[in-house]
Amino acid sequence: MSHTKHHVARPRPGPDWVVQDVRPYDRWREGTDECAACGVDIDLNGDHYGMELLRSLPAGEKRGFERERFVFCSERCVEVWSHE
Ligand SMILES: [Zn+2]
Repeated sequence: MSHTKHHVARPRPGPDWVVQDVRPYDRWREGTDECAACGVDIDLNGDHYGMELLRSLPAGEKRGFERERFVFCSERCVEVWSHE
């Protein structure tokens, strides 16, 4: 295992974003999205991993938090991304 930093396609948007949930999906919705780690196109109706990130908004914002969804082609990519 190398400890050098990998380049990831879509890094964590900021330190205040917290990973809520990561799980495998075999079907989510029509369309494709880019693996956040290696950048390959993922068919969202095929096997992939989905990650939900949440960020608290400053007090005063109506919604209270902001949500982002990242997708990964494999568990390995989730790992690479998480250690970035
Ligand atoms: Zn990947």
